[in-house]
Order: sequence, then structure tokens, then C-alpha cells
Amino acid sequence: MGVYLGVDVGGTKVLAGEVAADGTVVRTAERRTPGRRVEVAVVEDALTEAVLEVSDGRSVDGVGLAAAGFVDAAGERVRFAPHLPWADDPVRERLEQRWGVPVRLDNDATCAALAESRLGAARGASSAVMVTMGTGIGGGIVLGGEVWRGQQGMAGEFGHSQLVPGGRACECGQSGCWEQYASGNALVRFARERMRVEPTMLLELCGGRPERLTGPMVSAAAEDGDLVARRAFATVGDWLGVGLAGVVATLDPEVVVVGGGVSAAGERLLEPARAALARRLVGTGHRTPPSLVVAALGPAAGLVGASLLVRPLGG
Ligand code: BGC
Ligand code: ZN
Repeated sequence: MGVYLGVDVGGTKVLAGEVAADGTVVRTAERRTPGRRVEVAVVEDALTEAVLEVSDGRSVDGVGLAAAGFVDAAGERVRFAPHLPWADDPVRERLEQRWGVPVRLDNDATCAALAESRLGAARGASSAVMVTMGTGIGGGIVLGGEVWRGQQGMAGEFGHSQLVPGGRACECGQSGCWEQYASGNALVRFARERMRVEPTMLLELCGGRPERLTGPMVSAAAEDGDLVARRAFATVGDWLGVGLAGVVATLDPEVVVVGGGVSAAGERLLEPARAALARRLVGTGHRTPPSLVVAALGPAAGLVGASLLVRPLGG
């Protein structure tokens, strides 16, 4: 039995995991993503540390990388990444040489779509859309039971669909992108805006410093009944549904799977999203919207999918 790892390289954290043949995550290691204004080597050092920790001295048979960025069709380069310093970098080959093990590379949300379609909430569905909500919004598409990567490997970049003309500036260089309104970053921003004008336990949770507020703090406060935190989820959920109306109008999938850190909130997020989707979807009243569910593999979907890139079938 070989040792196969998946590494999810997001805008906020790097999550590496050893994944068993049945898709179970055996162990994980986490590092903070050093940011996008650092040298690429600094990010690659963080990946290396996480991989070394998970491999724990054993020899590894393959590492799959799920990168938050535009990966070319050959799976060689990260061409562009709004939240990471990679730009046209030959990431696959460089890390393969550095680690001395076979490395495969794909977009993080595409990896999550692969995992959910083979082992999770989209299993058996012939068409599905994966939306991951973390630092940004990632997207993956399953058509005819297969992941659709697009001509240049860049299909499913839903997070940068132009939702609000003249809206908020996005890290990608455009403005009004969906991920500015329905991601983990957006959740924190909405909560921060309200915490300046309304009493909320968030203030205490962030030690009186709104700039230190994080998504998990907003989730914890919402769990505890905090109204500002709950409203932040309702707002993000509403924007999730508004954006999905465009995606569903285009692809008409059987199921929409929502993953990424924010999706841990479950119905708190999905309920307002379903309502907004039903309201905004073209032809509403004359069609049934797809089911909207949380990723069965949770926040590990990306790294599990990455491990599937390297594990030989039946291996
Ligand atoms: C990037 C995607 C990525 C997503 C989630 C977006 O900003 O453009 O490539 O999948 O964030 O990490
Ligand atoms: Zn954008």
C-alpha cells in the first residue's frame, strides 16, 4: 500500500494530508499561507514543511497539489493566482525535483469537484457544480460524470464572474467579482462593518481589534446566537444564491456542492442561498432548482481530490 498525499494550497492556509485508498484522511498538517506578496520560495517552503510533517520520515509515493489559482491544461504551471505569488511558475516540476516524488497539480476547486464526484456529495451525479468558499470562491464543473477543465484548464473560475458593476476591487485586478461578496473574506468584511455600529460578542472575540477578526470567530459567534454574526452569514448566503443563479442558468447541473471553510456553517449559509437562488434563477416557477448541499468531505475535499490525481486506480 503506497503513501499518497494531497496538499491544498489556499490563500489563507496550506493543508496537507495523507489520504487512504478509500479517501479517508489519515493525518494532516497545517501551515499559514505566507501571503501573496512574498517570494514564491517562501510559499514553497511552507508546502515542504507541511509535506515533511505528514510524511513523518516515511517514503512517499506521490503528492497531489490543489492550488488556489489558474493551472494550465497540462497541469504544469500556475499561470495566475489572485491570492498566491505564483505567476507562470512551473510549480509541478519544481516541487517534483525538490521532493523527489511524483507530483501532480490542479486547481483547488477542481480537485474538490473530483473528490466530491467520486467519493462525496456528487457521487453518481452526471452533472455537478462545486463551489468552494474560502479566501475566495473556487469553482469546479462535472459534466457527464467527468471533471471539465476547459480548453486552457481554467474552467469554473466563477469567483471572478462580474456580479456588481463598479463593485469592490478584487485581488484578480477586476472589480465587482462574486468572491468579493460571497467568500470567507466577504463574511469577515460584512461582520466587521456591522461590529462598528452594533453590540456584538465579535468585539471581544477579536480582542477589541476588528482587523484581527477571522472567519472561524464569526462562525463561533453565530453558533452562540450573536445577531451580527448571524446576519453576516445571511448576507453571504444571499450573495451565494445570487451568484449561483448565473451558474445554474448556464449549466443546469443536478447538484451544487458547497465546500471550503465557510460551508461548515451548513444550513445557516445554505438556507438563504436556496431562497436567493429560487428568487433569482431565470425561469423560476417553471423549473426545479438543483439541490444545494454541503461538501460531504468537508474542508478536506480539495486535498482528497489532489491525492486522487497521483494515486493509481486500485493503488
Ligand atoms: C481563484 C481560484 C481558486 C479560488 C479558491 C479564486 O480567487 O481564482 O483559482 O480556485 O480562489 O481558492
Ligand atoms: Zn476577481
